[in-house]
Amino acid sequence: MKHFPIFLALEGRRIVLSGGGDAALAKLRLLLKTRGHITVFARSPAPEIETWATEGRLTLARRAFGPGDALCAALFYAADENPVEDARTSALARADGALVNIVDNLADSQFITPAIVDRDPVTIAIGTEGAAPVLARAIKADLEARLPATLGTLARIGKAFRKVADILPMGRRRRDFWADFYFSAGPRAMDQGGEDGVRQTLDTLLAHHLATPEREGHVAFVGAGPGDPELLTLKARKALDAADVVIHDRLVTPEILELARREATLIDAGKEGFGPSMSQDEINQLIIRHAAKGAQVVRLKGGDPTVFGRLDEEIEAVQGAGISWHVVPGITAASASVASIGQSLTKRGRNASVRLLTGHDMKGFADHDWRTLARPGEVAAIYMGKKSARFIQGRLIMHGAERTTPITLVENASRPDQRVLSTTLEQLPLDLANAGATGPALMLFGLAPRAAQAALFDNAEQELA
Ligand code: SAH
Repeated sequence: MKHFPIFLALEGRRIVLSGGGDAALAKLRLLLKTRGHITVFARSPAPEIETWATEGRLTLARRAFGPGDALCAALFYAADENPVEDARTSALARADGALVNIVDNLADSQFITPAIVDRDPVTIAIGTEGAAPVLARAIKADLEARLPATLGTLARIGKAFRKVADILPMGRRRRDFWADFYFSAGPRAMDQGGEDGVRQTLDTLLAHHLATPEREGHVAFVGAGPGDPELLTLKARKALDAADVVIHDRLVTPEILELARREATLIDAGKEGFGPSMSQDEINQLIIRHAAKGAQVVRLKGGDPTVFGRLDEEIEAVQGAGISWHVVPGITAASASVASIGQSLTKRGRNASVRLLTGHDMKGFADHDWRTLARPGEVAAIYMGKKSARFIQGRLIMHGAERTTPITLVENASRPDQRVLSTTLEQLPLDLANAGATGPALMLFGLAPRAAQAALFDNAEQELA
């Protein structure tokens, strides 16, 4: 983050701008929304600027900006649209102690003005550090369309009511009250009775929430999917939005944790590196401890919580403690991995069933399991299989599997650093060792990337080879 977004209190502060043309006009239209004292220096100001000066909305000096003109100013805009003049005025303003912005010159500016969605007092600032103004505009347009025009009014009325609502105990109950106001009761009242209706609704709503008993703790076992935040379900997003505590495992990516409610406590239950990771029993106790205190706990697991996630042990512990729970499914690594190679997990005429296996458990496989798996056309998604690759290869070949059976290894499926290694049973251990995969990887036994797409993966293979 090269630019840190902040909201600057400009009431009573000086804002100075040099320039009188289009660039100056564009900035002034924005700045006039603030409560700052604006001074414009322009030898030939545009008519609008003259009008604003006559109306007393800004001070106009019909001369070039000079030394000392930006003294005590919070912000200075160099908007003469002339690089030489802008360099001169900005150097002077900087010497006066103002923060300087040069219009259309990101490199020499000390701050930049974001794209703004204005629902005052709700303002959303969008910045791309100059990387993609088109993107900023698109995001702005999207938000403009999505946020009701009345949002600002609701926020203004809500703000005046904050002190009154403070009789609700801090935390969940107070949050529920405000969520109710902003997302359901408030907009409804606005539609029906305008601002007065909204004010009345606040009283009714508060009485209702005061009479509502405190919600009990609850545990949601939520699938975080394979890593791409867009592969989260809407239910997972909602659960993260409502969480007081998020207890996650090592597979959950930072991008997904970002989506948790800002006030939520994040606990990494899969930490390795500094000492051993938490034991299952410790994790169970941790979940119960928080939920028993009344927290909405999200137990966030990579992929789908029902696939190699030790879910049942946690459910039993939670249930044993008399705490309510529910499961939100997620996209499992096998689904994300086959999607990335354009294949199906099952296919008419090839395999009518598919196995989800863990590399660990395969060590305890009986002969008949191996024999079944070794039959032509079988497909298996092998989780946590990297370490056992050589063992798995040996057993399968021993039980008659073709050495040429395709195997595809998908590392970091769905993430920006996803890699695909297409190999065969014969080559597996060697290719795997050469690939040096460090991220989570899924082995798709019996599947190769779809031929039509093979070209796409050539690069990845070469990279890995
Ligand atoms: N519940 C998870 C699996 C947990 S077991 C799920 O449904 O996906 C952990 C194993 O899952 C890893 O060792 C790896 O084999 C696999 N895995 C998880 N995320 C993955 C990803 N993004 N890409 C490839 N494999 C992944």
